[in-house]
Amino acid sequence: MRRIVTGLLLLVVAVGCHAPDAPPTGAGRFDVFVLGIAQDGGLPHVGCSKGCCRSARKAGRRLYPACLGIHDTETGKLVLVEATPRIEPQLSRLHELSGRARSRQPVDAVLLTHAHIGHYLGLAQFGREVAGTKGLPVHVTPRFAGFLRTHGPWKQLVALDQIRPTTFALREVFSPIPGLFVTAIPVPHRDEFSDTVAFKIRGPQGTVVFVPDIDAWDRAPGLLEELIDGVDVAWLDATFYDGSELPGRDLSEIPHPPMVMTMERLAESARKRPGRFRFIHLNHTNPVLHDAALRKALERRGFRVAQPGERVRI
Ligand SMILES: [Zn+2]
Ligand SMILES: [Zn+2]
Ligand SMILES: [Zn+2]
Repeated sequence: MRRIVTGLLLLVVAVGCHAPDAPPTGAGRFDVFVLGIAQDGGLPHVGCSKGCCRSARKAGRRLYPACLGIHDTETGKLVLVEATPRIEPQLSRLHELSGRARSRQPVDAVLLTHAHIGHYLGLAQFGREVAGTKGLPVHVTPRFAGFLRTHGPWKQLVALDQIRPTTFALREVFSPIPGLFVTAIPVPHRDEFSDTVAFKIRGPQGTVVFVPDIDAWDRAPGLLEELIDGVDVAWLDATFYDGSELPGRDLSEIPHPPMVMTMERLAESARKRPGRFRFIHLNHTNPVLHDAALRKALERRGFRVAQPGERVRI
């Protein structure tokens, strides 16, 4: 009896340790790595001759589009979240960070948020001209799957079974690899070729959310709250800082929530749980990429700018 009581006590303590407010610990099964933090065009940016990109070119500084890689430390399986135009260095980094060298099947599954160039063009590298993958599951919405099946060059990859569009239902949990649970939450964005989602990704020890592109936190009531609910780490759209990057544009007309507004909304939670909110998908012009003092100031408020190579265990 005493043993049962002790067991129950241990169970209560164990469950207590995993309260939703606890930050992710060193335990856990999946490593989530940041493989890119920039907006679709990266840094330097084609067509930009302003100081932001001139100095980056001069210094050889390169930032790749927003992307995550997930490593199952039990089975060695790998998942790529977004197939960006810089997919080769990002896959190499994932293999290096996870210690899993791979060849023609570089990952076991791909998740895509939407069909804008910085988020899916890298799929082309899985085709016959390059890797020639075999039946690689690419998890997308039904509308995005329809687009891939009917438009070149993607439809050739589908016809040759190099990629296999695999659809998920919005807000329904699916598992791209065993043990990893993903929910796609629809978000408002320019939906020319596909709709757009954010991914909430849950492992046995934690939950993260990835929201690289969103037009506004408020288009649907309670959307921001839904996105961050139960989440240990949130990577959030930080395309623009305060709108001054787009002179002459009214702040309310900018098609992304400026960081200053996001920080205002999340100030209290960031102060209580520093490091919970991390900015990603930064435009080349975003002053946070170029001004260390500005970055320090937001860190003092509990926010972070995502760093290439950073890891969260879930
Ligand atoms: Zn984007
Ligand atoms: Zn620039
Ligand atoms: Zn986009």
